Amino acid sequence: MKSNITIVGGGILGTSLAYFLSHVTDKNILVLEQAQEVAFHTSSRNTGKVHAPFLYDPQKKKFFAKAAALGFEMWETYAKQKNLPFKRDGVLEVSLDEEGTKRLEKYMSWGEQNGLKKEELKLLDSSEVSRQEPEVHCQKAIFCTKDASVDYGKFTSSLMEDAKQSGASFLLSTRAEEIKDRKDFLEIKTNSGTIQTDFIINAAGGMSIDIAHAMGVAQDLTDIHFRGEYWQADNIYNNLTKVSVYSVPKHPEYPFLDPHWIVRHDGRCEVGPNAVPVFSPYGYNFTENIKEFPSKIVEMLLSGAAKMLFDSQFLSLASGEFLSSVSKTVMINRVREFLPKVDQSKFHTRGTAGVRASVIDSAGKFVPDAVIKQGEKSIHILNYNSPGATGALPFAIHVIGELQKSGTVKISKTKCGPWEYDKILEKI
Ligand SMILES: Cc1cc2nc3c(=O)[nH]c(=O)nc-3n(C[C@H](O)[C@H](O)[C@H](O)COP(=O)(O)OP(=O)(O)OC[C@H]3O[C@@H](n4cnc5c(N)ncnc54)[C@H](O)[C@@H]3O)c2cc1C
Repeated sequence: MKSNITIVGGGILGTSLAYFLSHVTDKNILVLEQAQEVAFHTSSRNTGKVHAPFLYDPQKKKFFAKAAALGFEMWETYAKQKNLPFKRDGVLEVSLDEEGTKRLEKYMSWGEQNGLKKEELKLLDSSEVSRQEPEVHCQKAIFCTKDASVDYGKFTSSLMEDAKQSGASFLLSTRAEEIKDRKDFLEIKTNSGTIQTDFIINAAGGMSIDIAHAMGVAQDLTDIHFRGEYWQADNIYNNLTKVSVYSVPKHPEYPFLDPHWIVRHDGRCEVGPNAVPVFSPYGYNFTENIKEFPSKIVEMLLSGAAKMLFDSQFLSLASGEFLSSVSKTVMINRVREFLPKVDQSKFHTRGTAGVRASVIDSAGKFVPDAVIKQGEKSIHILNYNSPGATGALPFAIHVIGELQKSGTVKISKTKCGPWEYDKILEKI
């Protein structure tokens, strides 16, 4: 089998890339996805929020901030066109102490810099919060109206159908196992045959750094996987709050967010996610983690991640996350700090956990933004974490813009579905 461009990974990013590439170029596009369906991993196993961009530092998280700012309208338009769930419900971000309140003030400024309008972002004091959400206790809160609840799995499946209509092919249950440079083309060995391709886009989520390394790219970076777990609330809590409630993360330099009170698009409520270090991008259970443990530990010890393994604050925070993994009470108590009415006995079932791959540089620091690395016949997207689903459509356009600059693709048409490629590219 032959293709001009092969995308490894049919998550929300790989599928968005296939959607736009098949619309705006004449290239023959192929997506390889090892699972039996697209968005089988993180792209369906998340909080399902179209995040407002006030949480993202416009300097340190430039890609994520811009993509989230543009993603909201794009998903809203797409959901309307396809009749998919898009509930513009808003979000409350609460502070519990002075330090948290200072951070909210910073978020207000980031929100404005990232393009939110004054009427979309309000700083409320505790009495205003009580009027709006009587069960929420806090010092202050940001109420942002430009936040929505969706089903990213459904968005991805629908994008796949559209991409197929415009000529892209998807090979599901097909894993890229080995990539060899044959000078005139790349050869991809899969579990079901060999593919010849001119160019590879690595959008393999938690596996993307391994694929980059195998192709000799990004050798100075490595990653640590974190499993975000959820607990589902009993239906009696369905009207406890009108909107989802997040608390200001206490350690924003680490990927440990404090669990939120989540109201999903269909009204179901959950608590989560925590961030438990695991050894595989698919480390949903003990067996998978044990299998990957020896090789991952060796990789970490030989890279910048070794510094993280001896960082006492990281270790102390990580042990707190382990505790919240084994003890439901510990997890629910983290939300009781701002929503005291929730009672752990009303949570009977775990939700669907998802794993993120956080990239670490050679100095042993977590990289804050998405990373794009170009190889000779490849481009690699690494560290594509939250709000990656929110920003997948505009970020895919940005990646294609990079391919245009390097001469890998030529744009033959700018209209793609409800959007104009060049207008979005200008903004991102
Ligand atoms: C707990 C949690 C909550 C989150 N909540 C939100 C949220 O509310 N809003 C938001 O915007 N973002 C959220 N995110 C982030 C968001 O889900 C991710 O940024 C996004 O899904 C990443 O998409 P992706 O396509 O890059 O990766 P993935 O969805 O992981 O897709 C990569 C795909 O590549 C495939 N693959 C890997 N290796 C190979 C191979 N060798 N051959 C073939 N296929 C391969 C995998 O099977 C996988 O399907 C959350 C993330 C987590 C972990």
